Amino acid sequence: MKVCSPAEAPAAPSLRDRDRIAERFKWNLSNIFSDWDAWHAAYADLDLKIAAFGALQGTLAQGSDRLLAALQLRDDIGQLEYKVWYYASLWHDQDQRDNQINAKRQQVQILFAKAAQAAAWFDPELLKIQLTTIQEWMAASPALALYRFALEDLYRQQEHVLDDKGEHLLSLSSRFSSSPNDAYAALSTADVKYPSVRLSEGAEVTLTYGQYRAILATNRNQADRAAAYQEFHKIYEASINTYASLYDAVLQRDLFFSQARGYASTLDAALNGNNIPTAVVENLIAATKAGTDPLRRYHRLRKRVLGLDTYHSYDTTIPLVDFDRKYPYEDVLEWLPASVAPLGPDYERQLRKILSGQCIDVYENPGKRSGAYSAPVYGVQPYVLLNYNDTLDAVFTLAHEMGHSMHTVLSHAHQPFVYAGYTIFVAEVPSTLSEALFLNYMLAHTSDERERIVLLQHAIDGIVATFYTQVMFADYELQAHRLAERGQPVTGDVLADIYFDLLKAYHGDALDYDDRSRLTWARIPHFFSTPYYVYQYATCYASSAQIMKQVVGGSEASRAAAVDRYLALLKSGGSDHPMALLQRAGVDLSRPEPVRAVVDQLEALVTQLEDVVG
Ligand SMILES: [Zn+2]
Repeated sequence: MKVCSPAEAPAAPSLRDRDRIAERFKWNLSNIFSDWDAWHAAYADLDLKIAAFGALQGTLAQGSDRLLAALQLRDDIGQLEYKVWYYASLWHDQDQRDNQINAKRQQVQILFAKAAQAAAWFDPELLKIQLTTIQEWMAASPALALYRFALEDLYRQQEHVLDDKGEHLLSLSSRFSSSPNDAYAALSTADVKYPSVRLSEGAEVTLTYGQYRAILATNRNQADRAAAYQEFHKIYEASINTYASLYDAVLQRDLFFSQARGYASTLDAALNGNNIPTAVVENLIAATKAGTDPLRRYHRLRKRVLGLDTYHSYDTTIPLVDFDRKYPYEDVLEWLPASVAPLGPDYERQLRKILSGQCIDVYENPGKRSGAYSAPVYGVQPYVLLNYNDTLDAVFTLAHEMGHSMHTVLSHAHQPFVYAGYTIFVAEVPSTLSEALFLNYMLAHTSDERERIVLLQHAIDGIVATFYTQVMFADYELQAHRLAERGQPVTGDVLADIYFDLLKAYHGDALDYDDRSRLTWARIPHFFSTPYYVYQYATCYASSAQIMKQVVGGSEASRAAAVDRYLALLKSGGSDHPMALLQRAGVDLSRPEPVRAVVDQLEALVTQLEDVVG
């Protein structure tokens, strides 16, 4: 089928009331509970089970069957929690204006807090039993041995748990450990005075972050983009010493906790939970810095195509061409399963089942939550929320969420409940792989040059945003934390130097630099809210790029083996540490090859783009 001939696509559907949208475009929540009465009954059942779990306190040391009973009850509670939570939460998301449903959703949150309290005794009580005793119990009981990875992992992390007095002291610090981030949010959002800018056409625009981004992404007048950039950065310039002081507080807090718990470094403390060696992040940073050539080529190409004499940070997001093709949902429903053909007929069949199975809430309606997600409702099915608006972005979002959903389906089908969930370290592998396969399909079927340019730019910008930028951020965080670890001063100037040097290390002479880009670090909320987090987007992307290379390249036999390894990864859920799971899928993140796969991918895309634009 020819997908991309210039089509007379119908206009995107306008905002309709929910009851005017056909049932086949809405999710069917009665697969979770038949009605609210059934939900109430499950809620009451959950409440009882939570109390029953609390009553098991003090029993674990009595023997293997008591531990097994507690673990099984905990699984029961967990499974019920999925259903009770998502039924209320998904109802809420389809129309957030409904107060009665919102109240039910909050009721679940209160119950969850109660559940956490009722279960708080479990880990400390378990850890008082020697691991060797637990291992003997597991050797004698296959039912208990099912929990081996979960139990042994708890003991592994025990090394950094303090005695009761120490833990109590640390828990008291939780009252102020989020203060730097709270203050950052207040300073950068609640208390901020947004500047305004007069655009060349005369309009005066208030520069909220959304408006600022919109100008950079849509305004074809470079002087307007420059003015918006300069004005917007004045927000940070005006308070840069305060931002630096808050960031210093983040660094000192992380250092405090890493030292208190006896980690070798702040990075080690951040990675230990998932058992990731620090070499993974160090290698990611080094290999990416060595692979910036195609990034620079892309920006030089953009400068030429956009006809600019100088090329700045504020010129990096404007589209190369204007393009407004619409992609009706029902067309895409055919293309998506076709795009996953390299993963085999079974995968394709299961994907079709999700696409036709009352799992997806497609269109926007008044009150519906914005954005998109895939919700893994254990024991039922994945539910996908979209706000599909016929744009190319919406199509790729659908492909992305289908990757998550297939991961859920395969993991839930092949894992016991305790291992059915997967960590963020693996989660974005199938979603990005799904997008990459879809891109290949679209590129193979388009005959429209403009569309080809848009597709290539979409893919390249995705790599820049989810890979290069995130690695640069990880590098920044690591350098800043190391300042604190070495006891060196952390000032606005020092932080600006780190950021500016990184910008130059990545972009070389492909970018003209503005003095105010020294301040951009203060605009990144992740630095303040979730240190050492963003690198995971990059490792996921690199893993996905390497798997993609193996799945679509090489001999038929090696492709088939790569597909088997990839499907095994999706089926493995959270049954082992993410590094081990990825290794079995053919990805070794302690080596440079995964990053090299991203660099190669970008090189190939930039070459294609150079060919089309001439
Ligand atoms: Zn995702």
